[in-house]
Amino acid sequence: MIKSYEETVALVRDCLVRAGSTFREDKKDAYRRAIAAEENPQAKWVLETILENAEAAQEACSPLCDDSGIPHLLLEVGDDGAVSGKTLDAIREGVAEGLRALPGRPMGIMGDDSHRIDQSGGLSPDSAGVEPAPILLRCSKDGVTRLHILMFGGGPAIRGRTYRVFHKHSTQVVLDEIVSWAREMVAQLGCSPCTLAVGVGRSHFEAASMMLQAQADGRYDVQSDMEREITDRVNAADIGPLGLHGNTSVLATFMKVGPQRASGVRIVCLRPACCFEPRIATVEL
Ligand code: SF4
Repeated sequence: MIKSYEETVALVRDCLVRAGSTFREDKKDAYRRAIAAEENPQAKWVLETILENAEAAQEACSPLCDDSGIPHLLLEVGDDGAVSGKTLDAIREGVAEGLRALPGRPMGIMGDDSHRIDQSGGLSPDSAGVEPAPILLRCSKDGVTRLHILMFGGGPAIRGRTYRVFHKHSTQVVLDEIVSWAREMVAQLGCSPCTLAVGVGRSHFEAASMMLQAQADGRYDVQSDMEREITDRVNAADIGPLGLHGNTSVLATFMKVGPQRASGVRIVCLRPACCFEPRIATVEL
């Protein structure tokens, strides 16, 4: 049934609050498995504390982290789904209401292009001053129209990278490069254990959009051979949660490989999603 404008706003608002305040069940299970397997006492304590923090945030519907994140939206449109300008307005209003309800940290910078770059335009005191990133659209595989909301923190954006890799006709060469980047990023991020989000595309835009979709589709209990290899090799580096050493630098890898071109280069986007990410929730519209 087609939802009214007001219904859509309310659904999106509640979805954003869930995205910012809860771990999905498969992520909680991944933490439980990591806690059971971790031998380093400091690392185990960090993992237990992150899970406790997540359970407290879920109960209070409060942000998982002080950096409550920038909303990134993935809209899947079903066979008979209709997305109008009004639908997009309702989504935008729902995001603003969700940011106020969470509440998100006020971190929207005001002013013109130059003011927003150097921060001289001042900070909007309104949580909803944080505008969402441009919406990503894709066809729904099961005919259902749904919205995924992901809250992107600043740390993974600082450490992440989108860059070319010369594959030399070997998938292994590309995997080796991803592992090498990831070891450096996870060690520098600090807010670990990470979930590595990887997109492989033909352009920077496509690789980044694959990275975002990888987080929407990825599951901690379903890992491909390539995902498992990346996770295991980064964990072997003994970085550990918060860099305290141990077995659990990375909980899982979510990787999405898009169409490729006849060329010697692959564009890889790697985001070391932090200990609270992916902060994601999904709602049917
Ligand atoms: S990187 Fe993640 S855990 Fe660290 S401050 Fe940012 S949102 Fe919070």
